[in-house]
Amino acid sequence: MKWSWKIARIAGIDIYIHATFLLLIYLVGISYWNQLGTMAAVVSGVGYILALFFCVVLHEFGHSLTARRYGIQTRNITLLPIGGVASLEKMPDDPRQEINVAIAGPLVNFVIATLLYLYLKVTNNHAAAEPLSLTEGSFLFRLMIMNIFLGLFNLLPAFPMDGGRVLRAALALRMDHARATQKAAAVGQFLAVGMGLLGIMYNPFLLFIAVFIWFGASVESSAEQLKSILGHASVRHAMLSEFHSLSPEDSLARAVELTLAGSQKDFPVGYQNKLYKVLHHSELIKGLQERGERARISELPLQDILHVDVNEPLGTLLERMKENPAQMICVTEGENVVGVLNLENIVEMIRIQEAVESHHRSRKQ
Ligand SMILES: [Zn+2]
Repeated sequence: MKWSWKIARIAGIDIYIHATFLLLIYLVGISYWNQLGTMAAVVSGVGYILALFFCVVLHEFGHSLTARRYGIQTRNITLLPIGGVASLEKMPDDPRQEINVAIAGPLVNFVIATLLYLYLKVTNNHAAAEPLSLTEGSFLFRLMIMNIFLGLFNLLPAFPMDGGRVLRAALALRMDHARATQKAAAVGQFLAVGMGLLGIMYNPFLLFIAVFIWFGASVESSAEQLKSILGHASVRHAMLSEFHSLSPEDSLARAVELTLAGSQKDFPVGYQNKLYKVLHHSELIKGLQERGERARISELPLQDILHVDVNEPLGTLLERMKENPAQMICVTEGENVVGVLNLENIVEMIRIQEAVESHHRSRKQ
């Protein structure tokens, strides 16, 4: 995630902290300072938040270590103001395993709350919570209450909450994964609207969470759709197999001619089938201004072109294109160049697949 720093590595999992989390600590510190005006209050308030987030990390480890039992690794855990995010390599395909992974997090919170409860009981410190008290007993009591709240809150049946995953997995026992995700996302968005309305009336924080849930649901839903489409598609499905290429000896006039005659804007440049550079539309325009249309293409500062194998899955290619999404890609099969590809072609293919799949879905219902 952007704007995150690594703070620790535990059990082989990197833990990152997001910049906005530091903002939260700052805001909590300021509000304690404004209310109580002592450094001790600030330390206590910030210490409470840190203790709470330590519990959040344990919650995320609940997910990660359960997933590990099913052979799924965790890339990292990131701390955000609204909680933690454990980015697992993938979710288990078996819905029962997915339920276990999702539920392990809230369970950790309930276990912590139980332990705190027992500790407070044994030490006879089980006093009622005084909101901003600095005494140890109250600190642990508040931590106990917050863990119960965190556990319950995460069981809300809405993405990206754990409850949303449990709901999806429960639905996936009866229908295919993509549809289960859509249904679960719809429930989540319904919940988000309700929460948003309550937030407007009572508590802005609820509104904030509602927005978060709303986007969580739509991201989950479209990521799932994309995955089901990209799952079985390779570069071959999206590439343009009919394309023009240029030779370094060609004049810019030839490039202009091809640009005006068709829809292709960028051209691979090379000898016969061995392509090695790309002429972008913007470079052509600049070249025309500076050198005129008689200049040769080899005189222009051309960029290298990324080569991919025709059988590479589109999912991994998209991952590689993240750095430079606008680039044109040259598709090879063995020694030969068989096509070109850019992001637009992939988007076009996804759009078509979506239309085809939604047609199938509507016929099934
Ligand atoms: Zn969780």
